[in-house]
Amino acid sequence: MILLALSVITGCTSRPGSPASGKLQITTTVGMIRDIVEQVGGDHVKATGLMGPGIDPHLYKASQGDIQKLENADIIFYGGLHLEGKMTEIFEKMDQRKPVVAVTRDIPEKDLRTTEEGAHDPHVWFDVQHWITATETIRETLIEEDPDHKEDYERNAKAYIAKLEELDQYAREQIATIPKERRVLVTAHDAFGYFGDAYAIEVRGLQGLSTASEYGSRDISELRDYLVDKGIKAVFVESSVPKRSIEAVVRGAKEKGHHMEIGGELFSDAMGEPGTEAGTYMGMVRHNVDTIVRALK
Ligand code: ZN
Repeated sequence: MILLALSVITGCTSRPGSPASGKLQITTTVGMIRDIVEQVGGDHVKATGLMGPGIDPHLYKASQGDIQKLENADIIFYGGLHLEGKMTEIFEKMDQRKPVVAVTRDIPEKDLRTTEEGAHDPHVWFDVQHWITATETIRETLIEEDPDHKEDYERNAKAYIAKLEELDQYAREQIATIPKERRVLVTAHDAFGYFGDAYAIEVRGLQGLSTASEYGSRDISELRDYLVDKGIKAVFVESSVPKRSIEAVVRGAKEKGHHMEIGGELFSDAMGEPGTEAGTYMGMVRHNVDTIVRALK
């Protein structure tokens, strides 16, 4: 009875370092961040991701249930760089009560892609080296909040980073097998800039860095003309963005007598269903690389 009572009491006053369940409660935005937290945190964390498969973080608005999950968390991890453009105020508010950490915090500014308007591209996870930096940021935060398990966090992070290094190498080698003149990646929104820089493939998106940006018939016809000129054979749809814009480009090319295919579905801003290949960060990158290589090679 005493034990039970104690666990109820501590359950109400759960705080980092002495969580009632024995686990740090962590809430993240996109699944790719939840995945790192689970890899590094192991048995010491319980991670909850707000945004599941197919969910677009640029347009995402927190529900009442999400606010509860953010309230309940010991630590909140998010992408930052305006990825979760409609949640900024909530993060600012929560930041007064608990660690609210942008996992892109420690990526040097010189390594960030910047638009003409001065905005930073938030899609850093597509350069695996940047995601290694994010993994280190998460490791450091977990150690600060739960120093008792420092060694475990360090060991887990080291093992995960070793796998990420292999993944980085895999992506570079695979993309290099596509003949140079065909190495053009066209998607609905501009999510693959870091991927293009890191793995040497030209990237074009119909919409800008955010799916909230507008596009018109002129953007579609410009992209179509570019693809017809270059003789590009395939373009790609994204799991978290409606397919109609890319389908319009394919149709437009066809009217100009150029046959182009949808080369497959890429996972840009959300991972796949749990248990599927793209249900982890590493699986998602691998799926994208394999899909791109198969369609363009
Ligand atoms: Zn995006």
